[in-house]
Amino acid sequence: MEFSIKAEQLQPQHGASLLIICTDQSAPQSIPANTLYKQLTDKEKDFIAADFLQTEQIQSMAIAKISEDDYVAIQKLAQTAAKWAKEQVEVNIDLSLLDESSVNKWVLAFTVAVGEAIYQFDSYKKISTTQSLVRVNYYSSHAISESQHKAEAMLYGMNLCKDLGNSPANICTPTYLATTAKKIATELGVSAKIMSKEEIKQLGMNAFLAVAQGSTTDAQLIELSYQGAAVTNEKPIVLVGKGITFDSGGISLKPGAGMDEMKYDMCGAASVIGTFAAAVKLKLPINLVVIVPTCENMPAGNALKPGDIIKSMNGLSIEVLNTDAEGRLILCDALSYAERFQPAAVIDVATLTGACIIALGHVAQGVLGNNQNLIDQLMKAAQNINDKTWQLPLFEEYNEQLKSNFADLQNIGGRPAGTITAAAFLSYFTENYPWAHLDIAGTAWKSGNNKGATGRPVPLLLQYLIERSES
Ligand SMILES: [Zn+2]
Repeated sequence: MEFSIKAEQLQPQHGASLLIICTDQSAPQSIPANTLYKQLTDKEKDFIAADFLQTEQIQSMAIAKISEDDYVAIQKLAQTAAKWAKEQVEVNIDLSLLDESSVNKWVLAFTVAVGEAIYQFDSYKKISTTQSLVRVNYYSSHAISESQHKAEAMLYGMNLCKDLGNSPANICTPTYLATTAKKIATELGVSAKIMSKEEIKQLGMNAFLAVAQGSTTDAQLIELSYQGAAVTNEKPIVLVGKGITFDSGGISLKPGAGMDEMKYDMCGAASVIGTFAAAVKLKLPINLVVIVPTCENMPAGNALKPGDIIKSMNGLSIEVLNTDAEGRLILCDALSYAERFQPAAVIDVATLTGACIIALGHVAQGVLGNNQNLIDQLMKAAQNINDKTWQLPLFEEYNEQLKSNFADLQNIGGRPAGTITAAAFLSYFTENYPWAHLDIAGTAWKSGNNKGATGRPVPLLLQYLIERSES
């Protein structure tokens, strides 16, 4: 499947399908298109398609009508049009009726929408579905290549995130995640450092290792770095992703129903690796570091037990009251490790709490942190790219729920405000830099018939990095 950009006027081409994007003010002039446009307006719809037999040169013709120059509205329309495009072989898109702003929004939204529509994860099936769509050609006199590059990079990052997320836990192990990250970094010409269990031990990341100790697969610490800033020593943005490749809950074992979905507990890791690859592909003028602590959370004779007290990398002791609240234990050490980069900002991404699904459902991810400016930037980027995100408070009163009788902290704060107390726990390890935490437990994957990773929040993270690099 390829996209191409043509600067010339669109001429009818044999065999290809035609999609004309118009607005309320600009209707297509050719007779068949204008007839279709009238049907569209009569029915008060924004998308219509018909097999056009009169002209013989066009297999199918579709009209999409943009009512306002707003990314959310354009994205919705692009997703409808992408479902039609998916069934075609080659699609020519006439963008001549749009102004520059709408054209660029369309190209970004439609490219991503088509990529999402044709995405499939069937490498484990004997017969894979064949794709009919092979090419999309954009016809516009406006400069659209930047939007197209951005869209393709975003799609690459999202697809990488989805592939890693959808891969089963017997394939996508900590070692696999590390090897894949390293391979991608090598292909992109940037540096990757993979740290083994012994090195992690030397760093004093005992909370991280405590989670991994019940598994026969060793923990790995992944570090990717990219220097794109004009000033070499510019402070980097650090993205930290939770990489639990399978979360059984440990000794605090989860119930059996839906447990297969715990392969998705590394979607935070997948999203930061995907975002990193996209940012490098776009050669963004920023310095960027990705840190992924990755391991399995398994029950075993030597597994971490409720009541155990462990000492984290920054010296705080933690009483483990529930071994299923393991994400924060691997993240707290990774967040302490992030300090050595003297970061401009640290954003951690994690499928952290079921409570986040109760609070925000599967629509928005939660954002919390210690720096309102950083949160505002993330919220703005989320809104601009329509990767819905909502802030939850981090009032210090919540810290009360983390007080332990026997250690500096306990790893759970009870049922009330579970997403917030998880973030409150992490806040003890992020005091020395601007920090935001994204809880993607509700948005990283879908359950049911359409089970699969969503690729979120790659759009948000990439948009944030782009906006940051432009400011
Ligand atoms: Zn867990």
